[in-house]
Amino acid sequence: MYDLIIIGAGPGGLTACLYALRSRLNVLLIDKALPGGYLAQILELENYPGFEVISGFELAEQMVKQLEKYNYQFKQLDVEKIEKNNRSWDVISGQQRVTAKALIIATGSSPRKLGVEGEQEFIGKGVSYCGVCDAPFFRNKEVVVIGGGNTALEEAIYLTKFANKVTIVHRRQGLRAEKILEDRARENEKIKFILNAVCTKISGAKTVEQINIEDVNTGNQEIIKTQGVFIFVGMDPQTKFLNGLLETDKAGNIISDKNLAASEQGVFVCGDCTDIALRQVITACGQGAIAAHSVNKYLES
Ligand code: NAP
Repeated sequence: MYDLIIIGAGPGGLTACLYALRSRLNVLLIDKALPGGYLAQILELENYPGFEVISGFELAEQMVKQLEKYNYQFKQLDVEKIEKNNRSWDVISGQQRVTAKALIIATGSSPRKLGVEGEQEFIGKGVSYCGVCDAPFFRNKEVVVIGGGNTALEEAIYLTKFANKVTIVHRRQGLRAEKILEDRARENEKIKFILNAVCTKISGAKTVEQINIEDVNTGNQEIIKTQGVFIFVGMDPQTKFLNGLLETDKAGNIISDKNLAASEQGVFVCGDCTDIALRQVITACGQGAIAAHSVNKYLES
């Protein structure tokens, strides 16, 4: 029986683990992949205090290194469900079952699908959700980025290191991204914007060759020749495994109180799987610290 199991080893989960270990709790950290979560895929962070710029991978590595000092316990498990068990919680993955007095859900979010014809078919054949992973395959090619948020602009700028031309297709006139990123993208000669347009189809023979776009104001259709389509249209919380056990909003974000307690006793939350107003590495870390503190108080009571 652990005092605490933290599900998800992104920045929120890693911070919660650090605080819980320093409170001398018996903690198990679980993730379906290696620790770091989505943070490890972020190209460069320019707004994490103390670092003018740091890669997400490096920051994640340093967070893990800090935990190693405390001999933290980590298990790679794809959690299928959690079950209430009198005054404790079971975390289940296949035949494996681990139990704790309290849980912190820190499962983060994953890239949202666009949901257009051809998207699924061409994943790995030109359709990508990760610039840092796939950009080198598009050296001297032309690619399209879909979305107008921070991720879309950051990734578009990164893609210009490899591709000859990057076309950002965004469904509105105004971008959602921070102004500083917009300015940087507009100053980049390799980036072109197509605004007020949506992608309606992705097609090709064996790999992506073109996309269809539609002007949202006029309905005009256009074909854009491209070898790659990078989709950054937001993130969805990874909370399906909870199967309705905890109260969530419509989008699946877990609802919690100011102490980050979820709707079931002994379950706390942090990071991108919550209904937090600002999704940032720093806010996930802040919530991780609060969640661990709340667990400590809960266990003492
Ligand atoms: P986001 O901020 O939610 O932006 C998603 C973008 O995709 C929006 O421009 C949205 O258009 C567009 N979109 C959504 N659904 C669409 C659809 N079906 N078809 C076409 N376009 C669609 O998502 P994100 O950029 O992935 O960022 C997620 C969170 O991480 C945000 O809170 C963001 O601030 C944060 N983040 C921060 C940084 C940073 O601080 N440097 C970097 C990356 C991410 P509309 O604008 O019209 O809604």
